[in-house]
Amino acid sequence: MVFLSFFTSCQKEEEDSVFVDEKLQQYFQRFEEEGNFRGRNIDFSLINVEGYLSNTLEASISGQCQHDPNHPDRVLINLTFWNHADDMEKEFLVFHELGHCYLQRAHLDTKDSRGICMSIMHSGASVCRNNYNNMTRSNYLDELFNQN
Ligand SMILES: [Zn+2]
Repeated sequence: MVFLSFFTSCQKEEEDSVFVDEKLQQYFQRFEEEGNFRGRNIDFSLINVEGYLSNTLEASISGQCQHDPNHPDRVLINLTFWNHADDMEKEFLVFHELGHCYLQRAHLDTKDSRGICMSIMHSGASVCRNNYNNMTRSNYLDELFNQN
């Protein structure tokens, strides 16, 4: 009985503590809006994903999605990268990591004849050239949310 009540209270506490850094919140919100606009049911209150700005990631890693079977998936964004990034770079990075954490997507390195990445889920700058900007954003988001 003691164990049972401990377990119950522990679970309740976990549900209430899904953390998203306030600097990341507007990008999480955009992810919901853009996904729902494209017919997906994106709802962070149904599938929890946490978001942290981190100063412990290696300099070469701008972001990461951490899977943990006992906790919500967690997006880590490199604080140094964040502090030097513009709005489109931040959106690209958060959406890429949420592509892993929320959409459960793997990397996709398809490129066109000019070497430009076809998906924001590409694995890095060494495989194709990222071209995410105001003009191309809409096509990339179509690919991100509608690839199935
Ligand atoms: Zn990735």
